[in-house]
Amino acid sequence: MEFSTDLKSRIKKTIAKKGLLKPCTNCNHDEAIIIEPFIRLDLQDDSSVLSSGPEAIPSIAIVCAGCGKID
Ligand SMILES: [Zn+2]
Repeated sequence: MEFSTDLKSRIKKTIAKKGLLKPCTNCNHDEAIIIEPFIRLDLQDDSSVLSSGPEAIPSIAIVCAGCGKID
């Protein structure tokens, strides 16, 4: 699935609506940045091998503008 402008907008609105852009739990900075492009978390059975297979979780990285903590 392509991350179209419409999809990006809907994701950002949903994140904001659900209150996920909270002050940082590490430094309490109140500015969070949604990183683009979006990321995916690959599912792997063997931690000693890096591979990118079809099993993955599409994800959104929210980064604290103060300390860089990623949620
Ligand atoms: Zn922070």
